[in-house]
Amino acid sequence: MYNINLISGDGIGREVMDAGEYLLDKIDLEFSFTYGHAGYHCFKKTGTTLPEETVKKAKKSDAILFGAITSTPGQPSPIINLRQKLDMYANLRPIKSYEGVNCLYDDIDILIVRENTEGLYSQVEYEEDDKVIAERRITKEASEKISKIAFEQCQKLNKNKVTCVHKSNVLKKTDGVFKDAFYKIGEQYPQIEKNDYYVDAAAMYLVTNPQRYDVIVSTNLFGDILSDEGAGLVGGLGLAPSGNIGDKYGLFEPVHGSAPDITGKNIANPASMILSIAMMLNYLDEEEYAKKINDATEAVLKEGKIVTPDLGGQATTMEMTKEITRKILEGD
Ligand code: ATP
Ligand code: MG
Repeated sequence: MYNINLISGDGIGREVMDAGEYLLDKIDLEFSFTYGHAGYHCFKKTGTTLPEETVKKAKKSDAILFGAITSTPGQPSPIINLRQKLDMYANLRPIKSYEGVNCLYDDIDILIVRENTEGLYSQVEYEEDDKVIAERRITKEASEKISKIAFEQCQKLNKNKVTCVHKSNVLKKTDGVFKDAFYKIGEQYPQIEKNDYYVDAAAMYLVTNPQRYDVIVSTNLFGDILSDEGAGLVGGLGLAPSGNIGDKYGLFEPVHGSAPDITGKNIANPASMILSIAMMLNYLDEEEYAKKINDATEAVLKEGKIVTPDLGGQATTMEMTKEITRKILEGD
């Protein structure tokens, strides 16, 4: 029995969360749910985008599923705050092409592991005389932790290689630390192939020859840029899942936002949420169920019949969810 904390948020975050909860209810695993509020609606009711109660419930769960939030002007982002409060220092972004879905390459299957807490996202910027300076902080500790996550994920997903992406020819000190940490931790994984590229070359290869990657690990900014580049290769926000993990907590969420333009129409593609659920089950060591969910989603995408309008179909969010759930249960 797993305790899952559901934070649905705003807009289509709520719609795809309903879809996700339906699927979790039907499959052959036991879950109990707690519900947390966050985001714009929550702010209107309570005066805060992330109540302390939400953080408490999240901390008590085995895993957290997050929908999407509409940003509230002048208020902090609840998802960034939640990542910090729960020290979820690794951002996992799979980049995968699906048969039946229009994309630039039909054979991509990459996991990007992005450091979530330091690098150029330190938010430390200051003026000194006539200069404006942004701090790019890299620590050995965080670099080793993120490298370990990358190798563990590589092992878990039965992949063969981890590529470290950096710019140590220019950022000799900071990225020197990052690259050294990568190879040091790599020694504990002799069976996994390792290599490293400068970020400029890495970005080019991602376009010209993405098949050379299995798992990519990088610092905060480079990881951010490469994961959006990767998402562009395979097409469609409605298909992109993600995970945020640390030593204690794991939060899984679709990459898309609250999509006010399609809210209330029942046409949000539930696949990014459902694929995020598969990632969550992998995190909970339920690999077999995670695979079932991935396979069923792939099959529905390949058939292309019961899919939402963003994929060229006419199905509603729940119709597509029910079709994926049916395939999980019946195994066809
Ligand atoms: P937010 O400010 O909450 O991020 P947004 O307007 O930027 O909202 P996104 O959710 O980021 O919207 O989506 C960008 C575009 O992609 C929108 O046009 C939206 O309709 C579409 N989109 C996003 N997610 C989905 C989905 N699950 N199914 C179908 N279309 C989607
Ligand atoms: Mg957006």
